[in-house]
Order: sequence, then structure tokens, then C-alpha cells
Amino acid sequence: MQSKLPHVGTTIFSVMSALATEHNAINLSQGFPNFPISDTLKNLVNEALQADQVQYAPMPGRIDLRQQIAAQVLTKHGVAINPETEITITAGATQAIFTAIAALISAGDEVIMFDPAYDCYDPAVVLFGGKPVHLKLRFPSYQVDWNELDDKITDKTKLLILNNPNNPAGSVWNANDLLSLEQILQKHPQLYIISDEVYEYIQFEGTHQSVLKNEFIRSRSFVTYSFGKTLHVTGWKLGYCVAPELLTREFRKVHQFNVFCVNNTMQYAVAGYLQHANDLDTIASMYQRKRDLFINALANSRFTLLPCAGTYFCLADYSNITDEPDTEFAKRLTRENGVAAIPVSVFYEYLTDHKVLRFCFAKTDETLTAAAEKLCRI
Ligand code: PMP
Ligand code: GLN
Repeated sequence: MQSKLPHVGTTIFSVMSALATEHNAINLSQGFPNFPISDTLKNLVNEALQADQVQYAPMPGRIDLRQQIAAQVLTKHGVAINPETEITITAGATQAIFTAIAALISAGDEVIMFDPAYDCYDPAVVLFGGKPVHLKLRFPSYQVDWNELDDKITDKTKLLILNNPNNPAGSVWNANDLLSLEQILQKHPQLYIISDEVYEYIQFEGTHQSVLKNEFIRSRSFVTYSFGKTLHVTGWKLGYCVAPELLTREFRKVHQFNVFCVNNTMQYAVAGYLQHANDLDTIASMYQRKRDLFINALANSRFTLLPCAGTYFCLADYSNITDEPDTEFAKRLTRENGVAAIPVSVFYEYLTDHKVLRFCFAKTDETLTAAAEKLCRI
């Protein structure tokens, strides 16, 4: 069979997590929390089962969950979203991103994304005959160069994929970034946006500049979210897409034949949780404390930590330790030093290697302290 994705192998997340298990290393590679979730949320899953909420959900998702999301968007951004026509519940943000790309992209369309780019963007574009165009975030600030972007847009550019707060970089936007994006969209009426905002609640500096805050940008955007990230339940694969009615209509044409609907039991539990959730705004301070614990514990190491303004990842420059390629160093660190991390070059089109590794700090304090002790011995 001829491969449609000849250059795609197994994702780095699977590779590094498997290596961590094989060598019994502390796994700070793949991004998932290792602390328990709230009892309220666990009890709601039991309640959903007792209430026999185990058959198909409505195709776009349970309406109680969509109403809770709309209420949450109103509280956070002061923006009214119609839960009937503008929100679709998906199997994680990954499916939301894939579905938006499937709905939009035809053969020959150019799609601009910024490296280091989260790994699911490029292959989805290729599958639908699109041409990924990779620009780089500025190094080491990992900010978007809006002038360069403006230069690279052609009449074939159909879509920009944006990610704020940024995984793996940990960088975030300020209000000027939204204005620059708006100016670009004004100039290019054929352009759409996928704004991947899965870390909306994990930002430590400034406020999250969601594209939902800007009515003009929102009118052309699919905005994707993940309950996996927000509620610490990555294994549930539950997320959603917010998009204007016309875009949502096209999105759902794909969604209904891709999955039709997603896990009803978990949707019930999350809807119930959001109804009383007044702790979403404490997520950032919880992670900020973990970030600071990890950074302080590495203060006497030979790693140089880069700024981390959002997400639960921080980048560490290891050029004081070795000039090995980051993929080699990450593997050796796992095997010999017992800590697994993600090499950042894999998120670049041509594997640009700035000698930085990504560490996930969504871990118990004990795990972070134990990992830092090992890293300080290098
Ligand atoms: N986008 C980014 C930037 C991510 O880090 C992730 C991983 N959570 C996803 C999308 C996919 O989210 P999900 O696990 O909900 O599919
Ligand atoms: N989003 C997670 C990360 O960046 C990984 C998700 C996955 O394994 N596909 O580590």
C-alpha cells in the first residue's frame, strides 16, 4: 500500500513514554498529570453510570455541556456564544483540529503553521492534499513574527494554525498579537484560523488573549479546547470546537461521519462539574507553584531554563552539558539519568536543534523534586 504519510513515524510522545517505562525513568516527557483528579468529578462519573447515561449523546454533544461551555466563555471573555449552533463536543482537541482541517482544506491549499508546532497539525493538512507552510517562531522568545507571516501569505493560503499558550514553547500572546492578527485577516479575506487554545487556563503572565475576544477574528475561526488539559483527565479525550454558525455547520458535516458523537458518560460528568466549578481560575496558580518548584529545584543544575509564561511545560537549554543532538541527549537522559523529556527539534519541519528539552511539570511535588535531584547530578 502506498503511504499517504510516508514521512510520519510514531509520535515522540509515544516513543519517549515507552522509553521511560522501559528504563523505569521519571516521565516528564508526554504531557499528562500524575496527581489524582477531584472527587466531585469522580462521583459525577459514578452518577452518570447510575443514571444509565451510556447511550449515544446528541451528534454535536450534550446540550447541558454545551450550555455550560457557553456560560464559561461568557464569564471568561464576556462573549456570548450560541450553544446550539456554535459549539461541538469532540474527542479531544486533536479531533477538533483534524475535523476543522478536513472541513476546510482541499488539494493545493496552503496552510501556515509556526514551528515548533504541535505534532498533529502538519499530517492532517497533508492527508487532505493541503500544503503545510512552516514559519518559525522567533528564537528564543518564541513569539510570532507578524511581518514575516504577512510576507508569506499567498492567494493560495487558506488557513493559519495558531497555538496560544504555546506547546512546546511556553510562550503566550499579548493584546498586540491579536491586533496584528486582525490586521492580517482584514487584508486577506480568504483566510481562516484554527486557534488551538487547549492551555487557556494555564497562563501565568497577563491574561489569555483568546481569539474569541475579537469579534472580527472570531468570525473566521475554529477555536479548539481540551477538557483533558483543563480538568487533568487527558485519557478521557474530551474537547470542543467553538466556531460561528456557518463554520460549525461545515464542521459538523465532517464530525457526524467521523465519530457521529463522543463519550456520553464523560460529557454528563463534565457538564455536572462545570455547573458548580468555581475553581477553574485556580488552575494557573496551582501550576505556577509547580513550575516554580521545578525551576528552583534546578537552580544549581547545568540546565538553563527558558521563560515559561503558560502551559505545563518548561524548556531547558542543555548546551552547558553537551553538544549532542537533542534527540540523542533526550534518550541518553532517560536511559542513564532516569528522567525522560521531549527533544524540541521534532516540532520543526527540518529538525532545528537549539539544544533545548521540554519538561512537563504537571506532576506531584515529590515527582518534580525527585526528577530535579537527578537532573542536578548531571
Ligand atoms: N493541542 C495542543 C497544543 C496540545 O498540547 C494537545 C495535547 N493536549 C492537543 C492539542 C490535543 O488535545 P487532546 O488531548 O484533547 O486531543
Ligand atoms: N499534548 C501532549 C504533549 O504535548 C501529548 C498528547 C499525545 O501524546 N498525543 O505532551
